[in-house]
Amino acid sequence: TGRAVSGEPHRTLPAPGLPEVLGADLQVPVKGGRLLNYANLDNAASAPCLAAVNDAVAAALPAYSSVHRGAGYASQLTTARYEQARHTVRSFAGARRDDAVVFTRNTTDAANLLARCLPEGTTVVVFGTEHHASLLPWQDAVRLPAPEFPGTAIRAADDALAAIDGPKLLVVTAASNVTGELWPVAALAHIAHRHGARIFVDAAQLVPHRPLNITALDIDYVAFSGHKLYAPFGAGALIGRSDWLSAAGPYLRGGGASAAVTLDETGEVGTEWSADPEQRHEAGTPNVLGAIALAAACDTLTATGWTPLIRHEERLLARLRDGLATIKGVHELSLWGPGHPRVGIVAFVVEGWTAREVAEALSAEYGIGVRDGRFCAHLLVGHLLGDVGPCGASGAVRASIGAGTTVEHVERLLTALADLVTRR
Ligand code: PLP
Repeated sequence: TGRAVSGEPHRTLPAPGLPEVLGADLQVPVKGGRLLNYANLDNAASAPCLAAVNDAVAAALPAYSSVHRGAGYASQLTTARYEQARHTVRSFAGARRDDAVVFTRNTTDAANLLARCLPEGTTVVVFGTEHHASLLPWQDAVRLPAPEFPGTAIRAADDALAAIDGPKLLVVTAASNVTGELWPVAALAHIAHRHGARIFVDAAQLVPHRPLNITALDIDYVAFSGHKLYAPFGAGALIGRSDWLSAAGPYLRGGGASAAVTLDETGEVGTEWSADPEQRHEAGTPNVLGAIALAAACDTLTATGWTPLIRHEERLLARLRDGLATIKGVHELSLWGPGHPRVGIVAFVVEGWTAREVAEALSAEYGIGVRDGRFCAHLLVGHLLGDVGPCGASGAVRASIGAGTTVEHVERLLTALADLVTRR
């Protein structure tokens, strides 16, 4: 597991066959002046950078230049790398040959871009359980209540779409950033298409944990973020059907999006926007290094194969959930019950403690990083906290697992929580 480019020492991976992440040896100060190895259980917020991503960015840095416009060697090389990144992201998502792959800043940006490209009069059907990135961008939306079962979600979407005339779009998150629960995306895509609707899938929390194939799932649009996929911040993608994207006005107006700019006799500026949906919606100098980083993460996860990562995460998740269930006063949040498949994300509350107090104590005393609050999914968290009574008033705590998580991190969290509940 050693690395040639950075020259860092050989490391032991949390399990064989996993991709190496940076920061595995990060030491953090805790109460009493000790240093502890950082237990990063906040992968769902932003996952640490893969070593291979670091290397890919480092390799691109010495010879970068502006893409698409320069004839110089560095410009041509950078253009080739940028377009190769697009190609990689396309294959990672299992996109169709004629799908557009637009680089965006993140998932939020991708959803907002799609919202601007909807044909006139489109009605959006969205679950109120969505992350705000997928809940808030739409103008005309029918909001569905939190479904009691996966089947209820399918029936609710079916009924809502049947009642709408004209263009329609169903919006769903593939894996919840609160409970980790996997949504029945293929069934929802089928329902959407039966009603002549399209489907947009927020895959921000799916792609770090499971392979994605939008062709096989018959998804029209998908979005995800590099920083949740073991690449640094600033790049994401919207992938999907070109026609809506090509017909809409450019997301940003400026160079790159414009094919030709002219002056008419009256002195008015006329702009012909690029017909290519990628060019059209990527005005200005793009985040080339972000795209290269995102693509390197995609390449690495594909090359390492999903089996070791899924096995590792499932083992840790099972231990975490079993452990939480045995600590009196800790309650896990779940929409569809303990048996429903999920990725490595667990939200819980601790009796007698606010979520912020738990998160602060875990950090200050145990060197553990978790997230607390309502995780930009206020409606879902509010709904789930209704089940746990007053101890949920302050939100919840979320622990999330990734390629760098070790058994020791999970055990440390469980020990810490068992300790915290005895104090109040
Ligand atoms: N969708 C889900 C399910 C998320 O978990 C997040 C991030 O928390 C987002 C969308 C938004 O991602 P970004 O902040 O990268 O736009």
